[in-house]
Amino acid sequence: MIDNAIIGGGIGGLTTAVALHQRNIRFTLFEQTSVIKPIGAGILAATNAMQVYKTLGIADDISALGQAVHYLNVTNANLKTLSELDLRPLVQKFKAGTIAIHRADLQQYLLAQFPESMVLTNKKLVDVKRADQWIDLTFADGSSYRCKTLIGADGLRSTTRQLVFGKKTLRSSGQYCWRGVAEFDLPEKYCNALFEAWSDGLRFGFVGLGKRRVYWYALISMNRPFDPAPVELESYFSAFHPMIVALLAATNTNSIHSTEIMDLQPIKTWAKGNVALLGDAAHGATPNMGQGGCQAIEDAAVVAQMLEKLPAKDAFQRYNAIRIAKAHYVVRNSWRLGRMAHWQHPLPRNMRDTLMRITPASYRRRHLKKLFTLDWE
Ligand SMILES: Cc1cc2nc3c(=O)[nH]c(=O)nc-3n(C[C@H](O)[C@H](O)[C@H](O)COP(=O)(O)OP(=O)(O)OC[C@H]3O[C@@H](n4cnc5c(N)ncnc54)[C@H](O)[C@@H]3O)c2cc1C
Repeated sequence: MIDNAIIGGGIGGLTTAVALHQRNIRFTLFEQTSVIKPIGAGILAATNAMQVYKTLGIADDISALGQAVHYLNVTNANLKTLSELDLRPLVQKFKAGTIAIHRADLQQYLLAQFPESMVLTNKKLVDVKRADQWIDLTFADGSSYRCKTLIGADGLRSTTRQLVFGKKTLRSSGQYCWRGVAEFDLPEKYCNALFEAWSDGLRFGFVGLGKRRVYWYALISMNRPFDPAPVELESYFSAFHPMIVALLAATNTNSIHSTEIMDLQPIKTWAKGNVALLGDAAHGATPNMGQGGCQAIEDAAVVAQMLEKLPAKDAFQRYNAIRIAKAHYVVRNSWRLGRMAHWQHPLPRNMRDTLMRITPASYRRRHLKKLFTLDWE
């Protein structure tokens, strides 16, 4: 019988695996794809996530694979600043920075932190039967495994959640996102910073990943059902700063991912007996605060910490109690921020932009301080 089964080899599942392995807690990770590969292009591991990686002793390696981000800038379409936030005082306070990293680099690194034999690929979970002392898992290839605990880290459309916790509501934001990595020499003034350019119903963000790689994301509000087919992004963003248009041109179109931006309406509990949900499966958020993955990383650390101290059922209840308020704060605020960023009526848009220009950095830093604090340590 397997001690702990983790479903899903995304950032949440892999970080959980690393944290369990370091505590000599046995597990098997099941991933539906044949190879563990990233969904999306780049990711920002913010100070809260990097503090977790620091406690796992892997923050320096991860920092070396990516690029430090010292500033968060929101601009208009022409890259004229609406708000700029210097993150360095927070780095000093928390002794951990924000790192922009290619998802493939992060996932490969995490995967190398525990033996390959603990991962089973081509295992798509299709059924779960729970008894008091064990859980039977069935996979699409017909195989089945009995385990003592089940951690569902299988993303926003989690099968674990559907089978154990019932149907929950996914909300579409009406915003669609395209992500890519351009080969591009960023001018010095754009290095070590995340830029997000806002216009009516459109947003374009970019950040350097090092080694001439620039991760970018483009968001468009659309009044039609999501279609993953390629779109002419250049035509949507032609009025943006020429460098943004150049970034699009410098990207291999075959490597661009498209996604409908959705979240999971906050659910009451992520723990049921010896089953727990983690990451997007538990609290999928829209990406507007760049925190979905960071929250999954925090979950992973807390789950491992609790499993070390307590019997599984108590550990999962405790994990749920510790993490739910902060993760749902992110879900709710990301949703609000995303709507505000895409306001299309000129009057509220101008008021928003003015407010952003005059809001003191200290106010925004206070908000980030709350986000970056690991109150469970
Ligand atoms: C455009 C965009 C930008 C983002 N930017 C950031 C950012 O900068 N910083 C940040 O922190 N977050 C960001 N996020 C959010 C972040 O990507 C997610 O929160 C994070 O990937 C969630 O990780 P996860 O491991 O919970 O789920 P996932 O990454 O979705 O991984 C789930 C895994 O489970 C597997 N799986 C699914 N179903 C099954 C099954 N039935 N059986 C077996 N395996 C299964 C999948 O194949 C996958 O490998 C962004 C999201 C988007 C959409």
